[in-house]
Amino acid sequence: MTTDMTDAPCCIVPKYLATFRCIAGACEEDCCHDWRINIDQNTFKKIKTSMSHSKTDRDRFRQFLKRNSSDDKDTINYAYITCRPDGGCPFLDDGKLCEIHRRFGPSHLSLVCRSYPRKKSLVGKRTEVVAFLSCPEVARRCLLAPDAMELVELEPGRLDSDAICTEIKSGTGESPYHAYLDEVRQSLLNLVALIQFPLASRLFFVACFADSVSPAFSNGNSEFSPEILAENIEAFSDPFTLRELHAQFEQIDSRIDFAMLLVQRILTARLPSISDNFRALLDQSWKNYNLLAKSNAPCPADDPQRNPEIFTTIQQLYQRRCSLLQETFTQRIDQYFANYSLNYWFGEWYTRSPDLLVHATKLFIRLAILRFLLFSHPALNPLVEQLAAGKIGRKERESAQEALDQAAVETFYRFSRGVEHDPVYLDDIQQTLAKENMEPLTKLTLLLKF
Ligand code: SF4
Repeated sequence: MTTDMTDAPCCIVPKYLATFRCIAGACEEDCCHDWRINIDQNTFKKIKTSMSHSKTDRDRFRQFLKRNSSDDKDTINYAYITCRPDGGCPFLDDGKLCEIHRRFGPSHLSLVCRSYPRKKSLVGKRTEVVAFLSCPEVARRCLLAPDAMELVELEPGRLDSDAICTEIKSGTGESPYHAYLDEVRQSLLNLVALIQFPLASRLFFVACFADSVSPAFSNGNSEFSPEILAENIEAFSDPFTLRELHAQFEQIDSRIDFAMLLVQRILTARLPSISDNFRALLDQSWKNYNLLAKSNAPCPADDPQRNPEIFTTIQQLYQRRCSLLQETFTQRIDQYFANYSLNYWFGEWYTRSPDLLVHATKLFIRLAILRFLLFSHPALNPLVEQLAAGKIGRKERESAQEALDQAAVETFYRFSRGVEHDPVYLDDIQQTLAKENMEPLTKLTLLLKF
């Protein structure tokens, strides 16, 4: 993270986004598949006028664009597009190009379509943009380049000024929790970016920082002391303190049963209502464990008491795969998860959560789920076997890393589509975590040991 976040008028983006282009027909997805795409009022009127000149267009307009009749209707979610039975957008052609864009131009694209996969925020006069990893091309750029999360300034005019703004920090009349966004966020970004430590230790620093400042630094807290916050920021930039914390983290027992159970519970809780796309990713992981264990036992294993055998088997197999892959590809794997974490702290403001501990927990559980799904990916079976047999030379490593990269991109983008865009799912996860009656720092540490 090399660019300081100043408050001058400018637009700051992570490097991966500065050169991002939609790859349209070459993409493995169509962005809007299975989603309800909102149409803002202005765009609705423009499309209606442009599609009023023939009966076919008028019929298609009526069939595919519906007015929103819910209570939360506003100018942004004024109407929506009805998906085809297969979940696709009815305006996408076979080459995955948008008919509205092709026939009427970009001015007829709704704000949602014009913004995606970007997400814009305003901090005073400064604009910040990140992107959702639900777009496979974004996931590729964000995860696979070592410098993807370097913050750079975008030339004026490169950003669509109408892009939807999801976060605004005006700078006036704010509580300290909101007012110190830049300072606190920069400290967190700095901790995640300390590549001289393993990623798990860096995230442990984040957990300890959150644990230390949260009692006096939370939403609506009147006990705030700027001196204590400043002391913490300084302490957590001291190399000696960080080395001590790293040593402390290394001493902690690596038990994974807590995190495994939590991950399985979360993944199974909403099975009936998750998208087909995410379901396919889950199914292939569970089928893989059945295959590897030569078992016909029901998988998933959300309840070790009901089915202790399959739960233990999954745990053992996961642990073996995880250590083989992590030991050989430490740097690459840390890079995926570090870049994902940096994108999170930069783009998903902690001010949305009641305190930093809750915000860190939201990230750490996502990381644990992503690790489970990545290391369980069946495309990695041949690589795991090669590693177990010690048969991987320098030559094979290159193609092995390609396989790992592909599995990572698929895992992250499908997870993002299935979970990060589903507010009900995210809420359920929060509730599941809140039920775990445990000290927050212990919970965070156990998730990091997964
Ligand atoms: S998912 Fe991303 S790359 Fe694919 S079509 Fe949508 S914006 Fe383009």
